[in-house]
Amino acid sequence: MTRICDIGKDVSRAAKLLREGGVVAFGTETVYGLGANAFDPRAVARVFEVKRRPTFDPLIVHVADREQLVDLVASIPSQAELLMDRFWPGPLTVILPKTDRVPDLVTSGLDTVAVRIPGHAQAIQLLREAGVPVAAPSANPFGLISPTLAEHVASQLGTLIDYILDGGPCDVGLESTVVAVTESETSVLRLGGVPVEEIEAVIGSVSIGHTPGAVEVESTTARRAPGMLARHYAPQTPLRIVHEADPATFDGNFRVGLLTAFPTPHADRFATVEVLSHARDLRESAANFCAALRRLDAAGLDEIAAFRFPDEGLGRALNDRLKRAAVCRG
Ligand code: AMP
Ligand code: MG
Repeated sequence: MTRICDIGKDVSRAAKLLREGGVVAFGTETVYGLGANAFDPRAVARVFEVKRRPTFDPLIVHVADREQLVDLVASIPSQAELLMDRFWPGPLTVILPKTDRVPDLVTSGLDTVAVRIPGHAQAIQLLREAGVPVAAPSANPFGLISPTLAEHVASQLGTLIDYILDGGPCDVGLESTVVAVTESETSVLRLGGVPVEEIEAVIGSVSIGHTPGAVEVESTTARRAPGMLARHYAPQTPLRIVHEADPATFDGNFRVGLLTAFPTPHADRFATVEVLSHARDLRESAANFCAALRRLDAAGLDEIAAFRFPDEGLGRALNDRLKRAAVCRG
């Protein structure tokens, strides 16, 4: 059996590996990323290969500071500047027109590139030492639950990559919010760690789920707004979304586990229960979401029942993840 790569906190080693064309997992505030030098198509190709990610699904490029955008981005609309001022470093990814230097593989041939400064001190130090922008999707096999601990990465991809930089547990625990910005319009392509309400407080109302200027036909939807794929972020165990007022039960033969944001009086109806926040805090729920879903997935259940989250703030992004996790394998 191939051995699992080292896990550690050696930023210089990780940075050197990135500069030399390696593939390195690293912690961010959202989820663990699987990074490669964005200007090195061979290294980026390995990221797609390791994740078994279809090449129509473009990567987010991570930078240490805004100066690094010069090589990546052709222009920055004023609305995008406002969003970067407010939310960077942080869980917001901005889609902007790309320069010729960005390899097509990174953007799946699109003329735009997704960029972000992560809100995580060790990740920024890594990007700074590497000295190159780092293309990094989530460090998990394509379509499955995102990793929020170094151990999650080790168990799924550890034998396929060069190093895991342990950044501790991810504070936000949800992927970044992805926004496409043009001079005339801003559209949220993926709900995530920055709630839509907070974006609207900065730039006014935004549309959700459609790319400005794009013709939305079925075949281009995946290209235009991946991460918006119907089935994604999914456990192996079938997952069903239920309303707390109408909870599922288990009868002893059929083992159902419950995922719930907050404590519930219905807990004793389930074989096992994951309460994401005893303090009834949606941020804490988001931070615990992926790890709890993994534990349920590993518990040998027949089904996972998930209570819908309150439809506000991070609850909207969490409901979006549940919806995609609940889609049956086709
Ligand atoms: P991941 O890093 O796995 O969370 O996924 C990155 C996501 O960013 C993709 O699935 C897309 O939703 C989005 N993305 C990246 N680049 C672009 C782009 N040029 N246009 C639209 N969406 C993008
Ligand atoms: Mg992902």
